[in-house]
Amino acid sequence: MSSKPVSSSTIDPSAPIGVTILGATGSIGINTLDVLSRHPNRFRVIALTANTQVDRLYEQCVQFQPEYAVMVFADAAQQLDVKLKQAGLMIEVLTGEDGLELVASLAQVDYVMAAIVGAAGLRSTLAAARGGKRVLLANKEALVMSGKLFMDEVQRNNAMLLPIDSEHNAIFQCMPPNYDNGLESIGVRRILLTASGGPFRTTPKQALQKVTPAQACAHPNWDMGKKISVDSATMMNKGLEIIEACWLFNTNADNIQVVLHPQSVIHSMVEYTDGSVLAQLGNPDMRTPIAHALGWPSRIASGVKSLDLFEIAKLSFEPPDLDRFPGLRLAMQVARIGGTSSTVLNAANEVAVQAFLDRKISFLAIPNIIEHALSEISVEPVDNLEKIFQVDDITRKICQEYIDRRQSSSNTLH
Ligand code: NDP
Repeated sequence: MSSKPVSSSTIDPSAPIGVTILGATGSIGINTLDVLSRHPNRFRVIALTANTQVDRLYEQCVQFQPEYAVMVFADAAQQLDVKLKQAGLMIEVLTGEDGLELVASLAQVDYVMAAIVGAAGLRSTLAAARGGKRVLLANKEALVMSGKLFMDEVQRNNAMLLPIDSEHNAIFQCMPPNYDNGLESIGVRRILLTASGGPFRTTPKQALQKVTPAQACAHPNWDMGKKISVDSATMMNKGLEIIEACWLFNTNADNIQVVLHPQSVIHSMVEYTDGSVLAQLGNPDMRTPIAHALGWPSRIASGVKSLDLFEIAKLSFEPPDLDRFPGLRLAMQVARIGGTSSTVLNAANEVAVQAFLDRKISFLAIPNIIEHALSEISVEPVDNLEKIFQVDDITRKICQEYIDRRQSSSNTLH
């Protein structure tokens, strides 16, 4: 991650900051618009994008009047265009991956909120990095699947990467500057990455076999999209976050300790060589890290209410259980192996989570599928984007075949 502020040199301080939101209709997108709406003179929405939700994107366009709106599919784009014209709004509607990449790299865009879910966000997030934008990174999968290649693009183009994941945002807030040179040289001993433990933190392993998508998506502390909710339930989200933290903070998995903290009040910590531990606390509300990254290095209002420590009263901590949550163990292994193994992990997880949401496989089959993919595909260095997409593609096919094969021999994959 570059800690050089791009804003001072390239952004006219008197003009509103131009913002594109990739994935505007999702949980992060909606929270971002909520924060932006509190600062109408400071920010100007240039572009909003969505995949399927025409009506929601239309409402957002009416409220924020961007210059561009992107719907991934042409028929949805056509519907949006008709509605906007009927409302008398002059908003250019674009479509497809090209549309996403274009609005991520427009000259009038200063900040890009990368909040598309999964690998689908990689190209447009990379386009923002190539355009030298301030990239507010929610889409952790993009970084996990492309690793060094992504970080090289950020550096080469003098872009700036600010983390939106509450944990990484907290680490960023607790970290001294210049961590690009390695944590040891700046007196940091380790990162304490907190995890709520998700909805099944205390559920016995046997009972996990029967849990439903609705139960997996009912996170105790956070209201999020379905994919990240299931990732939180399997703890793969924490696994992806370990890999994300390694890239963002130029460290390795041995310097990261996962700490279960069910209250989600401490969002992560940084331990220094003198024994000091700095933590960032706050209510579990994504508007705090979003406002932090939008305002940095200033602080801006987010709409988040004050933390009531008397109401919380108690903060507790536990070690993670790698037996009940093997996805976390797999991700830790992958973080150490490197190369395309994290591309495989991410793609296999996306396929498995979707199959679980579609009720084709059981909850406990998710890590089995990922393990199968990791054992089938050999690890290569991440040296170009084509290779990443090839590996992503092969992994998806292998996982899909595995699911189909196992499904034809039983009703649900166990
Ligand atoms: P949601 O599922 O709520 O939203 C995803 C957004 O991406 C929607 O705007 C959706 O459009 C769009 N989208 C989905 N598929 C595609 C596609 N194939 N091409 C283009 N756009 C697409 O997800 P979240 O907001 O929860 O998460 C977004 C990212 O942020 C994820 O990477 C997640 O891990 C990360 N994150 C989320 C947190 C949270 O609190 N939600 C916390 C930390 C990180 P449409 O609505 O039209 O389907």
